[in-house]
Amino acid sequence: MTDEFTTEIYYEEDVDESQLTNSTVAVLGYGSQGHAHALNLHESGVDVIVGLRENSSSREPARAEGLEVATAAEAAKQADIVSVLVPDTVQPAVYEEIEPHLEEGDTLQFAHGFNIHYNQIQPPEHVDVTMIAPKSPGHLVRRNYERGEGTPGLLAVYQDTTGDAKERALAYAKGIGCARAGVVETTFREETETDLFGEQAVLCGGIAELIKVGYETLVDAGYSEEMAYFECMNEMKLIVDLMYEGGLGAMWDSVSDTAEYGGLTRGDEIIDDTARANMEEVLEQVQNGEFATEWVAENQANRPVYTQLNQAEKNHEIEEVGERLRALFAWEGEGEETEDEDEKTRVQAD
Ligand code: NAD
Ligand code: MG
Repeated sequence: MTDEFTTEIYYEEDVDESQLTNSTVAVLGYGSQGHAHALNLHESGVDVIVGLRENSSSREPARAEGLEVATAAEAAKQADIVSVLVPDTVQPAVYEEIEPHLEEGDTLQFAHGFNIHYNQIQPPEHVDVTMIAPKSPGHLVRRNYERGEGTPGLLAVYQDTTGDAKERALAYAKGIGCARAGVVETTFREETETDLFGEQAVLCGGIAELIKVGYETLVDAGYSEEMAYFECMNEMKLIVDLMYEGGLGAMWDSVSDTAEYGGLTRGDEIIDDTARANMEEVLEQVQNGEFATEWVAENQANRPVYTQLNQAEKNHEIEEVGERLRALFAWEGEGEETEDEDEKTRVQAD
């Protein structure tokens, strides 16, 4: 498996910027990633046109920042590189609008591989297909760029018709600031499958279930909701922050010896061979396309399962307890508030 997946890392000095000279980039969508890519490229001296629906509430904010705005089709017509940054579930429909405008030698550029890897978008053979995927939400891609810093990103080439696909993608990565931090080479398959597995098994699905089941175990045994919330949800951040800064080692070093011994002896009784087998099963459904097929059908049916699960999660007791207890921590996060509020308003506005 290892030699199939590469781990080359590129930095600014590896980038031939002239790859974007005389090129026009169409950025489709002005959400989390779209606004950051459009503004960073624009300030890097690249010609940018933002592609948005006629009635999109993002038209005004994009224009106010000095960006040119058109429909997706019109932007794609004028562009040499079309960066598809509308939501993944919306991309196949938007692609229908732009396909007639993909000329010989153009680049179709993505920030996530789902639609290409699972054949929801089938581009013509005469275009390059690449991915530059920043490893952080868009507002940080933007903020880091403004501070003269960068956000690490992933690079992948799915189709190289011109022979310059990788060089152009790297120039794009430099334009949005990723090459300042480092661009890690991968493939559409690896990015898509590891992303889906990670969010399902560990990051979103795994951790939410771990928290809920831990909370329920304490409450069912008669302990208070408040204590269960603090232990199973609130303290998660302290532990994850330590891991983020210094790996598992920093976490084990910071907690008490009792916590370390208890965790090291009991952790694998919780995430045991059954959990491992379940993870392998989840990975298999990602690899064989079963999950992708299910999610595409779910969207076509107007999201019945999604809607129900989304509501059930909101109704879980831990959410009500959490709302009450988080008010006690109201002093936290002050100062960051304005930027984050801006981000929320802008993304929700569309
Ligand atoms: P988003 O939901 O923040 O924004 C999408 C934007 O697309 C909207 O703001 C709007 O301008 C436009 N849009 C929404 N619905 C539309 C419709 N029906 N028709 C036309 N335009 C519409 O999306 P995002 O999170 O920036 O994701 C864009 C791409 O970037 C996806 O492929 C995603 O996987 C990828 N990505 C996202 C992140 C992240 O942290 N958000 C990180 C890396 C990669
Ligand atoms: Mg992800």
